[in-house]
Amino acid sequence: MSEEKPCPISHEQVSTKNWGEIFGEPKPVHIYDCPRCGQFAVALLHGLAIKDIPNEERRKVAAYLRERNLQKQKEEIVVIGFGDQPQYSKAPTAVWITWEDAVAAFPKTPAEQLDRTLLNLARRSIYLGSPIVIDAYSEPLAFAENNEAMWFIFKQLIDDGLVKPYGSEISRLVVTVSGLDRVASLQSSMVLEKKT
Ligand SMILES: [Zn+2]
Repeated sequence: MSEEKPCPISHEQVSTKNWGEIFGEPKPVHIYDCPRCGQFAVALLHGLAIKDIPNEERRKVAAYLRERNLQKQKEEIVVIGFGDQPQYSKAPTAVWITWEDAVAAFPKTPAEQLDRTLLNLARRSIYLGSPIVIDAYSEPLAFAENNEAMWFIFKQLIDDGLVKPYGSEISRLVVTVSGLDRVASLQSSMVLEKKT
């Protein structure tokens, strides 16, 4: 049974489950399904600490989690927290990530921010030319601190010809053929990086 609780990272009111409902073993850990951050688990104590971390850092982690949710190839639940990996997070479909590692994964340059935003949009694209709805929860897709910064990034991708508005609506975007080419070249260089 899920209940509504505030997401410790984005403070959105979201549907929440207890660890035991998914993994069987009851733990003081909640699993959040947040429209902004995606799905993740966090221990209650860690959640209380996260709630008070400055927004600058929380938004970086929201972007990390959202990207990770979109990259997801198999069933997994990211467990985020502080310190050493807790025993419960060694469950088969759980993946332990420290808060510090999630913050450090934030894009280092504007060029990287644009590339990873494009990859996120392509991952949300269901079929060739399918519109991607941009809403109040889309800021982490562009690694942006607010709505204005998000649109700045999207407009840059539009200027670069990598995405375009869907018809006359700017609130829906489509990845162009040039954008898909760019995605393919980014993905093949990512595969090469993993091999080396
Ligand atoms: Zn959230």
